[in-house]
Amino acid sequence: MAMGDCCRICNRGVEFVLHVLRDCPLIKSVWSRLLPSPVLGRFCSLSLHEWLLFGLKECSSVLIRDVKFPILFAVLCWKAWFRRNAIMFDMEFVERVDLLESSVSYVKEISRAKDGLPVAAGVSSARRESSRSWLAPPEVQA
Ligand SMILES: [Zn+2]
Repeated sequence: MAMGDCCRICNRGVEFVLHVLRDCPLIKSVWSRLLPSPVLGRFCSLSLHEWLLFGLKECSSVLIRDVKFPILFAVLCWKAWFRRNAIMFDMEFVERVDLLESSVSYVKEISRAKDGLPVAAGVSSARRESSRSWLAPPEVQA
């Protein structure tokens, strides 16, 4: 099945990216739990580009269960896309839990893990952040 065919989650919508991430009834029920009706109406009328900007920038000061909306937005999109792929490709694992609850838990778990990282004495967290980088494997460095 190519993008643009019927959605296998709801068997109704044409499966474009916005359908999977915003308009499919499964994910739309999550967005409707998060956003008040007037905002939801606008949210659901935007183009993909506008919608991404809205989710990642415009609501940057909104907290939902102590999680910044843009972070929750990104995790929800990731989980919705992962679920779509699991269904599309008949993967054994299809997460059956509530997407919102599992996304909030995921973000909080990552935050706790990040907060729990050891900090060397005298090293500020900003310096610790800047000292992390990806190193190429030895066979690539030559
Ligand atoms: Zn659908």
